[in-house]
Amino acid sequence: MNKAKVNQEINLADYNDVWVIAEQNEGKIHPVTIELTGEGRRLADTLGKRLAVIVSGADVEDEARKLLHYGADTVFYISHPLLKDFSTEGYALSISELILEKKPEIVLIGATSIGRDIAPRIAGKVGTGLTADCTKLEVDETDHKLLQTRPAFGGNLMATIVCPRNRPQMSTVRPGVMEKAAFIPNPDGRLEIFIPNLKEEDIRTVLMKKVKSDRKKVNLIDAKVIVSGGRGLKSPEGFTLIRALAEKVNGEVGSSRAAVDAGWIEHLHQVGQTGTTVRPDLYIACGISGAIQHLAGMSESKYIVAINKDPNAPIFKVCDFGIVGDLNEVIPAMIESIDKN
Ligand code: FAD
Repeated sequence: MNKAKVNQEINLADYNDVWVIAEQNEGKIHPVTIELTGEGRRLADTLGKRLAVIVSGADVEDEARKLLHYGADTVFYISHPLLKDFSTEGYALSISELILEKKPEIVLIGATSIGRDIAPRIAGKVGTGLTADCTKLEVDETDHKLLQTRPAFGGNLMATIVCPRNRPQMSTVRPGVMEKAAFIPNPDGRLEIFIPNLKEEDIRTVLMKKVKSDRKKVNLIDAKVIVSGGRGLKSPEGFTLIRALAEKVNGEVGSSRAAVDAGWIEHLHQVGQTGTTVRPDLYIACGISGAIQHLAGMSESKYIVAINKDPNAPIFKVCDFGIVGDLNEVIPAMIESIDKN
């Protein structure tokens, strides 16, 4: 069992390399892994360090090897039959064991539900700090401090946090925030297999049954176009108009939190600080005022179009194209115009 090293004196010079903890489900790699690999490569290059990606599982060696082609120097494949299905204890223990043995300087984990589950446990086991939900990372080249920026106080300010005395420096990073790494064939990359010291009694949870969700998948992160609706829709029926426009422009349906809180649409569609962070080519905000917590999730969109009847709505300060008007008139006119062309 791993022992926490909290408050022990450590030699910072013993710690090297930038790590990305990959997330996989039945061999399918979560997109946030590719985003973090891109960001990890950038940080590793700035520090003159190597980049390793860590994959845990059973029978996923081929999938793990593919990650070498996204800029990693090494992939550590933590392989064990007990890691076939995700368990908090199994994954956190095995990854912590590898961290304690290899001593990375920086560890990045996706702020997904699984990442948010294991990251604090890993940090506790290896005796370091954790900055959760980061939206920006930089490194100080002189002392190798990782400057981890995340929203604080309800998104009203951005806090930059450092981990001065402990290693590794650990962050969870929101999906959709970092640029994905490009696919570059890397025949020289190395895959190392690590067999953790894991026993059945270490895992106290039992997986009884897997049930596939029959909900329609909402893929806001990869959408090129998003049409989002807010409180200005006035009712759940307002989303019929949003869906109609989304269909015309091959887009996904997004929403503000106000629309989710009103019960008009599921949380899966929510864009913003407590929803999904998106960066589509085109974001059309309909009846959304542009609160800071909404902007936190969509301001990186390439083009922003806003429809709002209030000319002073804050969304007009960030949009590329603003339409002052009633969405019940503007959206049907847009659909009609698309149909004509
Ligand atoms: P409103 O602010 O009420 O705006 C509605 C807009 O519709 C108005 O500008 C109005 O002029 C316009 N309008 C009305 N009728 C029409 C019409 N007929 N035609 C055109 N325009 C019309 N919010 C998020 O969106 N995402 C988040 O992730 C999120 N996280 C949060 C986290 C925290 C900790 C907190 C405190 C808040 C968070 N919020 C989030 C909430 C956020 O502060 C706002 O309350 C919310 O974004 C407002 O949603 P809205 O723009 O739809 O509603």
